[in-house]
Amino acid sequence: MSKFNPIESLADLRHEFGEHGGVNMSIEASTTFTVLEAELLPKLFQGKVGPEAGGYYLYGRHYNPTVYVLGRQLAALEGTEAGYCTSSGMSAIAATVLQCCDAGDHLVASDTLYGGTFALLNDFLPRKASIETTFAPVTDFEAIEAAFTPRTRLLYVESMSNPTLVVSDIPRLAGIAHRHGARLVVDNTFSPMILSPVRLGADVVVHSMTKFINGASDIIAGAVCAEHRLIDQMMDLHTGALMLLGPTMDPRVAFEIGLRLPHLGLRMAEHSRRALAFSQRLVELKVPVIYPGLPSHPQHELLKRLANEGFGYGGIFCVDLGTAQRANRFMETLQNEARFGYIAVSLGYLDTLMSVSASSTSSEMSFDAQDRAGISPGLVRISIGYTGSLEQRWGQLAGALGKLGMT
Ligand code: PLP
Repeated sequence: MSKFNPIESLADLRHEFGEHGGVNMSIEASTTFTVLEAELLPKLFQGKVGPEAGGYYLYGRHYNPTVYVLGRQLAALEGTEAGYCTSSGMSAIAATVLQCCDAGDHLVASDTLYGGTFALLNDFLPRKASIETTFAPVTDFEAIEAAFTPRTRLLYVESMSNPTLVVSDIPRLAGIAHRHGARLVVDNTFSPMILSPVRLGADVVVHSMTKFINGASDIIAGAVCAEHRLIDQMMDLHTGALMLLGPTMDPRVAFEIGLRLPHLGLRMAEHSRRALAFSQRLVELKVPVIYPGLPSHPQHELLKRLANEGFGYGGIFCVDLGTAQRANRFMETLQNEARFGYIAVSLGYLDTLMSVSASSTSSEMSFDAQDRAGISPGLVRISIGYTGSLEQRWGQLAGALGKLGMT
């Protein structure tokens, strides 16, 4: 399989200059757009002209030029035909599912998903839209295949699961989905640049751009990347989930995120370099650590095979402290004494963020569901930042472990 290079793909995209020749694109802060000939308006409504056909725009909830450019950049990053940016990761996920599934339809999904996605599929959609989901371990291909029904429209997984870092075998899962006439949707929030799911056989990539892509924990945003046909359907004025539910991105936000994409690859490589160094050293200290970059990780070889070159194995690892009490003490020592990072949910920030998943971002799952997914009460998810030097940060981490009697 020839390797895709997301950095080269992004650089191949036509550069968008600002209105007066600025090297950055302009922020088009208009919600509505005029035309010189009145007959163009009905043509815009009929889809006969538009951003791609003649460069016409209608209304900001439909397409906005600045948001549209960011969507094309995301498509280039993911190697898809088209991309559309939304106001959050959850809205990108919800709109994708609602576009692909009608009432009575069915999904098969990994049993290790971000808690919000789990709640959407497990609680919200069955009640509000009669869309049911069967969950199965993403590495158990027989169980995944057995869960398909004639009404299954989507197989939904995360590239690396939140928080357990199980890596999805995207080519194999795509094969299963396609055999059943379904689409494979991959949430690539944990591994932008590192994995290019559509290049590996998936049909749709969704992102929470709130995380690594944005990188500064100051913006909530999301994206859907897929073939033109699906994005066009999602934007249809009569039946499009994005158009009608309206999770529109503000053009100012699109501009901000557009400035951060050029250094996403550099940031991912550095997040990964540090996460690998720390997890290797933690293993030496006999601390139980989960990181896909370690040869002991069950999907290490798979990830090596699927990953794009040069971005490492991701910026997140987990440490299992056994109990919630020990996990909380560990995080407090790291934050309040060692100043290693912050106790906060979310990930992909320039500084290190730590949270106990069972009682926070996976708390939507029952204890049984958490147990099945391998989310133990003392599992601390650590998103490694790149501020300070690697040795300075290791000194803080190792010092805290010493204080806790873990070395
Ligand atoms: N997908 C994953 C893997 C996440 O971790 C999150 C948020 O934590 C989301 C989706 C939801 O994204 P947002 O908070 O941008 O709506």
